[in-house]
Amino acid sequence: MSTFQELGLNDDLLHAITDLGFTKPSEVQEKAIPILLESETDLVALAQTGTGKTAAFGFPMLEKIDVNSRTTQGLILSPTRELCLQITNEMKQYGKYCKGLNVVAIYGGSSITDQAREVKRGAQIIVATPGRMKDMISRRLVDISKIQYSVLDEADEMLNMGFKEDITDILSHTPDDKNTWLFSATMPREVATIAKKFMYNPQEITVGNKNESTNTVSHEYYLVNARDRYQALKRLSDANPDIFSVVFCRTKRDTQKVAEQLIEDGYSAGALHGDLSQNQRDLVMKSFRNKQIQTLVATDVAARGIDVDDITHVINYQLPDEIETYTHRSGRTGRAGKTGVSMVIVSKSEVRKIKSIERIIKKQFEKKDIPDGSEICEVQLMSLANKIHNTEINHEIDKHLANINTLFEDTDKDELIKKFFSVEFTRFYNYYQKSKNLNVSESSSDRESGRDYKGSSNSTRYFINVGRKDGYDWMKLKDFLKEVLELGRDDVFKVEVKDSFSFFNTENESKEKVLAFFTDFKHEGRFVNVEVSENRGGGGRRDDRRGGSGNRSDRRRGGNDSGNRSDRRGSGDASSKPRRSGDFKSSSDRSRRSDSKSNSSGFSRPRRSRR
Ligand code: AMP
Repeated sequence: MSTFQELGLNDDLLHAITDLGFTKPSEVQEKAIPILLESETDLVALAQTGTGKTAAFGFPMLEKIDVNSRTTQGLILSPTRELCLQITNEMKQYGKYCKGLNVVAIYGGSSITDQAREVKRGAQIIVATPGRMKDMISRRLVDISKIQYSVLDEADEMLNMGFKEDITDILSHTPDDKNTWLFSATMPREVATIAKKFMYNPQEITVGNKNESTNTVSHEYYLVNARDRYQALKRLSDANPDIFSVVFCRTKRDTQKVAEQLIEDGYSAGALHGDLSQNQRDLVMKSFRNKQIQTLVATDVAARGIDVDDITHVINYQLPDEIETYTHRSGRTGRAGKTGVSMVIVSKSEVRKIKSIERIIKKQFEKKDIPDGSEICEVQLMSLANKIHNTEINHEIDKHLANINTLFEDTDKDELIKKFFSVEFTRFYNYYQKSKNLNVSESSSDRESGRDYKGSSNSTRYFINVGRKDGYDWMKLKDFLKEVLELGRDDVFKVEVKDSFSFFNTENESKEKVLAFFTDFKHEGRFVNVEVSENRGGGGRRDDRRGGSGNRSDRRRGGNDSGNRSDRRGSGDASSKPRRSGDFKSSSDRSRRSDSKSNSSGFSRPRRSRR
């Protein structure tokens, strides 16, 4: 292991590194910095966020640019505003002793004129999101024709987010002989194509294995019924009193719903998704960073670029549509040398996805049980006891002691302890004493038999009264269904389009949602009717023949296997969530959410204001 000195960095940078408290280079720094310092080369680096990659490209760039010139020499492209600001901030810190250095951030959602003014003052380095950068180039507010170093940070994310065209356009305004350094957590084909197109003979470095999560993260999954997801989430949070987590949901709607439920149930939670204004998102992120929010519920897109170092847990409330995204989710924890846990709550129909993820991350998941009520009570009790044990005495209390002592004159220590703890324990105990076991047993076939998971027993086949005549082919219909139902790429399958009607499958788990959605649903002026098809297995010819027999209205009225709509709607379990009657973290008193300095017993609530 070398030191920063041995890597060849100059005194200004070494000085800043000492201030930052970095004692030794991280793996990506050790590998990238010497290459970038010693040669004018292109570089492809496979590294996750949290591995210190900003410094890996930042130090060499700062070392190589000429701070005495006002020309823009370095351009760093990053996928999100959040990340862009973070990188800018880090670069400023790294370069704080480089006199004359000016690093400017360019991103959407903020005044373009202000940003243009800053650039005009002379920015040697610009850190930008692709959309705004392209905009500024087309308005001639920036000149990147003389840059010598360009960085594509989180290249896979930028491509995922549809920035390919923008990147191509931006790079076409840069000189051919510049060096390009590409950093990516994964190397899908699109990234390899970009590398090929824009780079000349790049050197390659890999930190850890390709596509592998960092070693500091352990992976666990919990098998529950889909309707128990939310209860499972609560228990996982309760069983980890000091949790500081990001909970990932698949859609904006679910994200909002889960966050609202958590808040209603007394947790310090917040939602982060694209339907919120930039200002709202900034506020949520600020609260999360300050740890006023303990659980951030987020969509994948909104969570991109979250760079908070001490996230203890990532909870996959639902698995992502693209399993590759799991790597990005789990990479939010276990950062900067800390350990983290990535938990997945799965239902039986998706448990086989765990196997595919294991293949991608090259690590094994541990199957664990959702803790039962008594375990949670014990954990919470001991956590409270430890907190009390470690609490510094506030001597402001002294003046009240006489009155308190009088009150407890006849209470011995044992009794006092019991009473004291019961204040909190009883509320938790009451909530959990009759709680059910949420765990579902898993047959080996559930996890292994993977491929045909979308076959018979786990999926529902539907009839829908639109077809080729309505302009659909299978792809269009699949896209339409995915979009309106907010389902993932693989979640609508076996789509078969006939002349005036079609069939498709979803996992059983989505059945309620599908049927509820298509109650009274109109598309382009006509009612779209969806029902469960009699042939549940799906895809067979029998189905088609029946569909082709023409008497659709009969089937629509009675020919499905799940009764009428109102029955079906009522069969969900969404309303069965017991309200959190109170626990160690808070009671139903909502006003406590924001400041939560006291509870009914008058003591401070460490849970709300983690230190
Ligand atoms: P990054 O991967 O660039 O987002 O960095 C993740 C975090 O690690 C940031 O907070 C950095 O300030 C920090 N960091 C970067 N390099 C080092 C290092 N050599 N030692 C300790 N912390 C570091």
